[in-house]
Amino acid sequence: MAIEWESVIGLEVHLQLKTGTKVWCGCSADYDNSAPNTHTCPICLGHPGALPKLNRKVAEYGVKAALALNCRINNESRFDRKNYFYPDLTKGYQITQFDVPYAEEGHIDVKLNSGKESRIGITRIQIEEDTGKSIHAGEESFINYNRASMPLIEIISDPDIRSSEEAYEYLNLLKTSVKYTGISDVSMELGSLRCDANISVRPKGEEKYGTRVEVKNLNSFKAVARAIDYEIGRQIEEIENGGTIHQETRLWDDESQVTRLMRSKEEAMDYRYFPEPDLGVLYISDELIDNIKKEMPESKIEKVKRFIEDYGLSEYDSNILCDEIELGNYFETAAKISGNSKTTANWIITEVLRVLKDSQKSIEEFEISPEDLGEIVKLIGNGSISGKIAKKVFEIKLTDKRSPEEIVKAEGLAQVADEGAIEAMVDEVLANNGKLVEDYHNADEGRKPRVLKGLIGQVMKASRGKANPQMVTDLLTKKL
Ligand SMILES: [Zn+2]
Repeated sequence: MAIEWESVIGLEVHLQLKTGTKVWCGCSADYDNSAPNTHTCPICLGHPGALPKLNRKVAEYGVKAALALNCRINNESRFDRKNYFYPDLTKGYQITQFDVPYAEEGHIDVKLNSGKESRIGITRIQIEEDTGKSIHAGEESFINYNRASMPLIEIISDPDIRSSEEAYEYLNLLKTSVKYTGISDVSMELGSLRCDANISVRPKGEEKYGTRVEVKNLNSFKAVARAIDYEIGRQIEEIENGGTIHQETRLWDDESQVTRLMRSKEEAMDYRYFPEPDLGVLYISDELIDNIKKEMPESKIEKVKRFIEDYGLSEYDSNILCDEIELGNYFETAAKISGNSKTTANWIITEVLRVLKDSQKSIEEFEISPEDLGEIVKLIGNGSISGKIAKKVFEIKLTDKRSPEEIVKAEGLAQVADEGAIEAMVDEVLANNGKLVEDYHNADEGRKPRVLKGLIGQVMKASRGKANPQMVTDLLTKKL
């Protein structure tokens, strides 16, 4: 009988904090848009004798992340030196938290499409510093120290993840939860989120963990999921063919969609951690934690619940609108103006998100302001324009500075609700479509509505889509 395998996955996520200045010095953290090596000083360049001092904001942002991820915060934690040599590491060691991190025992509750729910534990979160960046160009190598000592937190999960789907969902929820607090861009593209995966397999039911393999060089959430699937398959195949899994670090090759050996256990570095003597104990008081709790913005879960209760939206729609804090804000502003939250939600989910997806833009870059979208929806609600014309106004508004109302006026798009005018159009259509009229009278009850629909279409066409559809239907039915 074939063995049933279970995969065991843990994720290590590094997040860069948007603190304005670096973690141990006053150098600007806006390092990416500047000339190389311009955001440096003796501290982040690791000159002998230069003393680090913890940026208070890093601790505060760290607390926000810990609260968003349901962690317990330690009142006292310490810093350690992780020693290794690499050109982009100015001091020859990285300052991190090894013995006692500032936050522990958090969790994220994951729900899969299949309905399976599971709680993924967070072992710990630690504050640490980033390294510089090596740039290899042909024969030459360059180092840019602008990123050196940028503030990071490392979020280490328990080995609770059982599939690539769970890993993907965990990362999405982690991203949303942290992004809501505003402490980080949480973007893999911008390099403010990086993720490594520890993967092993074991026969189902076995308690002992299999030998784990660390996979690096994952550049998107999709790559994380694919690398996990590949590695699970590789490990099972290796074992079933009589081989053994070695503890090693592998790199994900996104082009070939495989992992490749980077270094084996024998080549693994011995970091020789020891306490950082230049930084004292990091003391985070209960009072500070309470104050930060009060400042914490609404979480996604709370927002979804409020949208369902206050706006009468479905859970599905609320989840989409709250996926990004900015999209939720956009909806609320638009709904306030339109006075119709359900229609506003529909417009955002279908039209706005479609345009954003096609143009690869974020809601903050979207051409139509929430006030203008609210105005368009309002014009439908008060009968000024039909839904069909509203789509036209929406398309025009994408490249037009005029207000929706001005566009409707200037382009002559206002709905015709003048009974005399509609009646004239109805009469004309009836006079010109004798065959259809005859057809209508000869049709049985089942076919009548279809013929009527054809006639309504003719009147709508004659009015260039502007006639009030209900009035057209009523008048046609009466006259027929
Ligand atoms: Zn500096």
